[in-house]
Amino acid sequence: MNIIKLEENIFVYQFGPEEGKFLGVNIFMIQSDNECTLIDTGFRRHFLQVKKDLDEKGIKISKVILTHFHPDHIGGLPRVKDADIIGSVFAKSTLMKYVEDYQNYLPTFLVGDKTEIEFGKHTFVLELNGGHSKDGLLITLNDKYIFVGDDVISDNSGNASIPYCSDKDVNAHINSINNIISRLGNKQILPSHGKVLDNDEDIMSDLIKRSTYLHYIKENRNASYEDFNNETNISFLGRDWHVLNQIEEVK
Ligand SMILES: [Zn+2]
Repeated sequence: MNIIKLEENIFVYQFGPEEGKFLGVNIFMIQSDNECTLIDTGFRRHFLQVKKDLDEKGIKISKVILTHFHPDHIGGLPRVKDADIIGSVFAKSTLMKYVEDYQNYLPTFLVGDKTEIEFGKHTFVLELNGGHSKDGLLITLNDKYIFVGDDVISDNSGNASIPYCSDKDVNAHINSINNIISRLGNKQILPSHGKVLDNDEDIMSDLIKRSTYLHYIKENRNASYEDFNNETNISFLGRDWHVLNQIEEVK
């Protein structure tokens, strides 16, 4: 675990990939005096390391905001006591797909419409942004950082991983990337997996690659990853997910 200080009171707990994997995990900590807001909690094993560090520093968790409710983001929630758990109105339907005891992970504060939350000197703006997952939130902090959950995924060196439409909704993911672009300005991108992106050119080229891929699979439902790569010269890590993006949802 690496603790990266982005600025006074804003930190990333960054975990490297586990054996056989290429993606790490980020848990973000925004501090105000001796309290903090976490963005995501990783798997339980990640959260426990963060909690230990916070306990040693005498920092209490008062809010947890979830970018979405997949298992690799919510693992710490059952261990969080007396904090606001903030997430999308669609959290429950996602949770029911992935965890049996979903009641232990439900948000206590639901975000439907655009919501502003003040935390000490910090301001969070939360908006629904269902791309990677229907219950995705786009979280802007202090007009300077955007937490994008898994709408932008990379390894810890910044190599882009393929977009993944976990709800098989390619159009929703195209929209979520467009939303990120429209909110971007000069903000930094903070992904739940991978490197913090603070270079405007790198950010735009990453987002355009994602958008190109998503439009491609929308138009070419049966094309292979190699077809995409040959036609566009764009490559991603995690290409195994390509076939998962192709399977049409049975309605
Ligand atoms: Zn994830």
